[in-house]
Amino acid sequence: MLTGPASGDGGPTEADWAAAVAAVRGLSAEARVLLICHVNPDGDALGSMLGFGLGLRRLGVRRLQATFPGPPELPESLRWLPGADLLVPAVEAYPDPDLVICFDAASESRLGELVDRLDTAGAALVLDHHASNTRFGGIHLVDPRAAATSVVAGELLARLDVPLDAEIAVGLYVALTTDTGSFRFEATTPAVHRLAARLLATGINPGDISRRVFDTRPFGAVQLFGEVLLRARLEPAAAAGHGLVWTYATLDDLARHDQRPYVLEALIDSVRCTAEADVACVLKQVAADEWAVSMRSKGAVDVSRVAVALDGGGHRFAAGFTGRGGVEEVVGRIRARLDEALTAH
Ligand code: AMP
Ligand code: MN
Ligand code: MN
Repeated sequence: MLTGPASGDGGPTEADWAAAVAAVRGLSAEARVLLICHVNPDGDALGSMLGFGLGLRRLGVRRLQATFPGPPELPESLRWLPGADLLVPAVEAYPDPDLVICFDAASESRLGELVDRLDTAGAALVLDHHASNTRFGGIHLVDPRAAATSVVAGELLARLDVPLDAEIAVGLYVALTTDTGSFRFEATTPAVHRLAARLLATGINPGDISRRVFDTRPFGAVQLFGEVLLRARLEPAAAAGHGLVWTYATLDDLARHDQRPYVLEALIDSVRCTAEADVACVLKQVAADEWAVSMRSKGAVDVSRVAVALDGGGHRFAAGFTGRGGVEEVVGRIRARLDEALTAH
């Protein structure tokens, strides 16, 4: 398996695009294609994968599966996406597909138990936009300038001469709005709005999509958020005075409010608005001594440096890692790395 440091370049070369187009165009009528997105799929991972999958279907690929590692469970907010009929549980995924295509995964670890497909597949194509991408797999379409993996997926569909239709557009639009914070983040470039315009021109309904993806949650989750936000801690002196705000949610919190873990994905957005802190963190318990940590920055701190130093990944403004130990222990490690990230340039 090929791994190495992120190249820090400007994205795929014409040779990379040509290799990706050839890998798809060269598929026989009987070829099996497996699409994989990262564990705990978000709107970009799932939307890019299913939007692209529908595009492959339009090209005549018949033996096509989409999957992701871990339990085959999706948040309600993403279950309705067109192309969800392509999804199979990880245990049912082709063991040796002719082509595997990975979406929005910065490193092999994000593919969980499906990582072996990189070796068993005839070819491995990687679509991603993380600067921290480790260049695993064989053909790389990794563009750190792209706001979402769906920008890369949309470009590849265009190069494959697949016309956008409303079903394809919904997935790509969900991906784009997820990773740009509904066009609020720095990544919201002219190219983002150009793609959004092409997607909207297919007739999709942005109000309905946003309501389903971002603005719907069970009342129990609303109350759980209240409790978790009440225990948030503000440390104005942390990150060399740029400030840190953090909180945590335990498995017990989820059980008391009868909620599934994925409802916590939106929690960071309520924490990161704290004016007094540049950096926001949410620790989401996944096992007795294991936490899925989300980090956000307003710009003074590159949180991907902190995440990578702690074996995770992400972007300058949004990153994450798996933390082991108690809450205070994990937060202590973040504090220390924040100071390092600010001093080491
Ligand atoms: P999240 O906080 O889960 O929304 O993730 C923010 C960003 O960090 C996304 O770009 C993720 O791909 C990345 N990320 C989150 N958790 C991890 C992890 N454990 N390993 C690598 N990257 C991660
Ligand atoms: Mn993602
Ligand atoms: Mn993404």
